[in-house]
Amino acid sequence: MIVYKFGGSTVNNAAGIIKLGEIVQSTRENLVIVVSAFGKTTNSLEKVVEHYFNQSEDWYKVLGQLKFFHFEIIKKLFPENNHTIYSEVQGLFDEISARLGDKPGDNFDYEYDQIVLYGELWATKIVNAYLVSAGLPSNWIDIRYCLITDDRYRDANVDWHVSERLIKEAFCFKDNSIYLTQGFIGGTERSLSTTLGREGSDYSAAIIGNILNAEKVIIWKDVPGVLNCDPKYFSNSERLKEISYQEAIELAFFGAKVIHPKTIKPLFNKKIPLWVKSAFEPENSGTLIHSVDRDLEMIPVYVKKTNQMLISILPRDYSFIIGENLGKIFGKFNAYNIKVNLIQNSAISISVCIDNYNPGITPLLDDLGKDFRVLYNENVELITIRHYTDDAIRKMTEGKEILIEQKSRNSVRFVVKGEE
Ligand code: ASP
Ligand code: MG
Repeated sequence: MIVYKFGGSTVNNAAGIIKLGEIVQSTRENLVIVVSAFGKTTNSLEKVVEHYFNQSEDWYKVLGQLKFFHFEIIKKLFPENNHTIYSEVQGLFDEISARLGDKPGDNFDYEYDQIVLYGELWATKIVNAYLVSAGLPSNWIDIRYCLITDDRYRDANVDWHVSERLIKEAFCFKDNSIYLTQGFIGGTERSLSTTLGREGSDYSAAIIGNILNAEKVIIWKDVPGVLNCDPKYFSNSERLKEISYQEAIELAFFGAKVIHPKTIKPLFNKKIPLWVKSAFEPENSGTLIHSVDRDLEMIPVYVKKTNQMLISILPRDYSFIIGENLGKIFGKFNAYNIKVNLIQNSAISISVCIDNYNPGITPLLDDLGKDFRVLYNENVELITIRHYTDDAIRKMTEGKEILIEQKSRNSVRFVVKGEE
């Protein structure tokens, strides 16, 4: 069997869903299809959560726009307006509205996970209904009852043992050859919804692929494969034809928006090849990520993370940043669930680069401030070049104020002042 994952940008209008249908139609093997929330729905739902949490009525407007967007797609796919998908999706909108009518509790992450999941439900319900109407034997599965996680909301950890049993039961391929389900979300054993981190549906596809021993996993995107830079920031991007699992992990870790960083391990563990392909040009080969036992010739790969914050932490008593101090500092980052993108230390200070918009940052800074002197710079960028050349470095750093530089054999990283 094969696992397909369709990203939000491939399904942001009816034409994209019809294209998805053609790809599925031309596949002969048993299939699990993971479909992501349509377009930028998750971003909009994040706005809904924020308004709701701040008890601002504005959630109503954003939700209204989402409803309009989804029903426009439904109308194009199902011109006969008595199709059951109309009432099914309406029912989901009623459900989320009812939830938003109640007062939020004080755990932001919990509230977030109970709300953003609707994007995944709307999308998978609609695509499944479309495939069925096109004559394909697609079965919708609610992954929250199979992919079981702990209750670390917004960054839940998978319970592999329980999930393996439940996923094998649900996706059994006895009477069916196609199952369609959600990525990014899971559920606790007490049936509360969780999420695996933004862009987590790649990871979901990898988990399902691992458990069901897939022959391969294909991530369908709106770009031709894994590129050597983000076309949003750079012109002349090139497709990487083949990379190793290790290279993919490094790239994802450095912030390349290739695939969710956790995606590779479940596939690597079972040596399941991962393809990244364009849903708009399915006949083109894309990028193959797999076990490579020879040296691949690599071109420079550029990864730029904007909107970063550089924090410098200094013990007030000029004690060294070793042992106990280090443990204390990173214990706090972990406690506030803040991921560190780069670390640089000296004898009496440590600097870390983190993403600069996370509700946990202010409490973390306050907490660190109790024991340490904390300085920070809010407008910085983190640039990584894999397989760098002098030319590549020049291109990336020209005219920039460099705050930190780190070089290893394969990568060079710079923290630079952001553009004003
Ligand atoms: N819809 C979710 C997000 O945008 C999950 C995903 O697309 O992977 O983060
Ligand atoms: Mg998405």
